Amino acid sequence: HLIMMIFIISRLMSTIGNSKPLNTFLLPPKLLDHDVANKLSTYQDAIESASTDYGNIVKQNPVAVFSPSSKEDIATLIKFAYNCSAPFSIAAKGHGHSVRGQAMAKNGVVVDMMSLREQRKGSDGIIVSWNQYLGFYADVGGEQLWIDVLHATLEHGLAPVSWTDYLYLTIGGTLSNAGISGQTFRYGPQINNVYEVDVVTGKGELVTCSPHNNSELFYAVLGGLGQFGIITRARVALELAPKRVKWVRMLYSDFSAFSRDQERLISINGMKANITLDYLEGSLLLNHGSLNNWRSSFFPQSDFSRIISQIIKHGIIYCLEVAKNYDDRTHSTVDKELQVLLKGLSHIPGFMFEKDVSFVKFLDRVRSGEKKLQSQGLWEVPHPWLNLFVPKSRIIDFDSGVFKDIVLKRNITTGPVLVYPMNHEKWNDRMSAVIPDEDTFYTIGFLHSSGFNDWEAYDDQNKEILTFCDKAGINVKQYLPHYTTKEDWINHFGSKWETFRQRKDRFDPKRILSPGQRIFNSI
Ligand code: FAD
Repeated sequence: HLIMMIFIISRLMSTIGNSKPLNTFLLPPKLLDHDVANKLSTYQDAIESASTDYGNIVKQNPVAVFSPSSKEDIATLIKFAYNCSAPFSIAAKGHGHSVRGQAMAKNGVVVDMMSLREQRKGSDGIIVSWNQYLGFYADVGGEQLWIDVLHATLEHGLAPVSWTDYLYLTIGGTLSNAGISGQTFRYGPQINNVYEVDVVTGKGELVTCSPHNNSELFYAVLGGLGQFGIITRARVALELAPKRVKWVRMLYSDFSAFSRDQERLISINGMKANITLDYLEGSLLLNHGSLNNWRSSFFPQSDFSRIISQIIKHGIIYCLEVAKNYDDRTHSTVDKELQVLLKGLSHIPGFMFEKDVSFVKFLDRVRSGEKKLQSQGLWEVPHPWLNLFVPKSRIIDFDSGVFKDIVLKRNITTGPVLVYPMNHEKWNDRMSAVIPDEDTFYTIGFLHSSGFNDWEAYDDQNKEILTFCDKAGINVKQYLPHYTTKEDWINHFGSKWETFRQRKDRFDPKRILSPGQRIFNSI
């Protein structure tokens, strides 16, 4: 397969790139019509950049990098691969913020979605509309970054409702996983706030799908880990954007009190009471570094020493984080409402901190931390992350077995550790994303940064955590999953495996797409 593919691509490159006579017998005529051959690059820098990701752990070279100008280009390339007697693999690479090579295509072709973003900037990449059935929505290219969606929709006084903590991720990249953040408890993940998507399937077909139209493909691609098609457009739900945000953090020494308060604040009954939070997360404070990591610098410098004293005294401090949006209309009531919501919480007295920031500053809160690390050369280090969904019924066991035992004993944890609950009913089980089978579950994110020589120590910790959960019968599901064996994938999907496999047979029968996930391809 590899030899065949190198042969075909080198023909494409040498014939078209160097304007030698074309060897058209190798190519379907449409490929030449669409002029896609000159969009393939085998230059070293293109290959290098397609063979790395944010994780900085996996490295796999494609044979070529494809820079499409349109969804038709992508369809032509996939159709070409599909019709080859020896199909080659193809991976869309969004912003490459995977941590385990998920957007790589060893010996295949990487589709550089960022080049499409560059070409569609300021044109048809993000279009805001309204209709009587959906209200306001945005049609957004799969290659666009969420930060661009934010700015483009704000020009109309609107914004999406469900976010990720970090906005320099593509629409296609987050929709292939779920897209979660502090809004998820209320609105569901980003995949739940999409009305329609355009997809190029593994057969090279261009399909528009929604819950009413080609619904099987719609549900397959949302949370589908890139396995069924390349998303070229998503219709994203919008609402009126607030102007500002009241942003509060409270510290706890007792995990039971912390999780009880989190669960109370996200409870469905609480939300029916009309006054609700707009965002809820939580994290661990383990040491000095966790007061001011890349997720956000929040606490006043003058309070550092008394917070550190609490960490030293208790070993771990749990930080509950909430936000409430407001605008000119709600300005006069927001403080009162926040007071009502936060009344009776059991945080450590005197350890509540509040900020009042613009909506954009709040949503883009991670960016300043990123820039700081980038300037110190610390953003492009290995990231041996572990993200889990843990059922609510076992979260206390998780705290004692993982946070209070493994994490404290090993004492290597760097970077944010996130802990916050969400509601099952805000997810859609027909979608490919996998979550625990309980009404409420927690997301736990170990967002480690390591040195180039010691990332394995973090991986060992990750393995120990997974083994602990396995032995204790805590039925966790990985988010942004990474497995190396088929058996692990089958376990991961559980009762959804059969549907996932059948959808693969239907939409990508030749196993062309996103081989870096290692679900159907054993690279
Ligand atoms: P890539 O890494 O480029 O691709 C990811 C996967 O999706 C690959 O399999 C790829 O082939 C496939 N893919 C890419 N584009 C498309 C497309 N158009 N159609 C179909 N498949 C496609 N996630 C959250 O949910 N919440 C967070 O708060 C959050 N914060 C993060 C913060 C940082 C600093 C980082 C590095 C990651 C974070 N993530 C978060 C994880 C992130 O959502 C995923 O890694 C996401 O896949 C990254 O998007 P990307 O554009 O970089 O995708």
